[in-house]
Amino acid sequence: MTVLVVGSVAFDTIETPAERRELVLGGAANYFSLTAAFFTPVQLVAVVGQDFPQQHLTVMQDKGICLDGLQKADGKTFHWSGRYGDNFNERDTLATDLNVFADFKPTLPEAYRQTPYVFLANIQPQLQLDVLDQMKDPQFVAADTMNLWIDTALDSLRKVASRVDALLLNEGEARQLSGEYNLLKAGRAVLSMGPKVVVVKLGEYGALIFSGTDLRFVPAFPLDQVTDPTGAGDTFGGGFVGHIAKHQDLSASTLHKAAAVGSVMGAFCCEDFGPERLLTVTEQEIEQRFQALCQLGAFDTKTLF
Ligand code: AMP
Repeated sequence: MTVLVVGSVAFDTIETPAERRELVLGGAANYFSLTAAFFTPVQLVAVVGQDFPQQHLTVMQDKGICLDGLQKADGKTFHWSGRYGDNFNERDTLATDLNVFADFKPTLPEAYRQTPYVFLANIQPQLQLDVLDQMKDPQFVAADTMNLWIDTALDSLRKVASRVDALLLNEGEARQLSGEYNLLKAGRAVLSMGPKVVVVKLGEYGALIFSGTDLRFVPAFPLDQVTDPTGAGDTFGGGFVGHIAKHQDLSASTLHKAAAVGSVMGAFCCEDFGPERLLTVTEQEIEQRFQALCQLGAFDTKTLF
């Protein structure tokens, strides 16, 4: 089943302890699309400037991503810059140059309005609500967010939470949004705001999946070397929603497996700068890493005493 994604397509400047890269292709919707496209058809709604390379659009189209909803506006593409220290779970944002993103009004092509699966990537919550208002009875809507919107647009974000099926957020955001430090309390408190599913992403440690009274955990796939974790959260989202859309099932076990797919894809994303690794990874490598992740947490369930 097709997934519609709305969010940022960007140029990122990334500094890690090892290297600095300028104008790497980025944006939440970019990472999400390139990942979800492994599992299901994707429709992208975003805005880029006149400086955006045709070459990358061709790469996306070759992956089967529909770009009918991609606007090309006068001006420069959104630019974000971040710096990581040795702890890749934390980063400093150095610059957010909105450029054409400042006036972004997501207008869905008529043919997108009945798309059954929707991912509202990290954008202003009011824009996420505007997208929902244009949709006709989607089967499953997931949304991502960030601390900026908890600080500056809490009322709209709460409305988003009350209208989506799944909310994905990292541990700091879950704590901030809920006012609870304990992650179980935080996850359940976010669940009580409306979504049926809450995914709390734990960076290099994995993710907790809350649905109803069910709680699951997936580890992150351990890597010898992380090159650049930018976009790993959105890549997780692409694997998670892509798997759900492919199987059209919201049982706790499918959600758990979907989070494992997200975890596997997020790890690939971290292996190179920007989305580079997502462009080279094969289905066979994804399958192998998924099997390896399953083995990581598997022990026999015979009683102990
Ligand atoms: P992640 O590492 O999963 O949090 O995603 C990083 C991506 O989010 C980068 O490629 C940025 O271009 C994009 N990004 C950063 N800040 C924003 C923002 N305020 N709105 C939309 N996208 C953003």
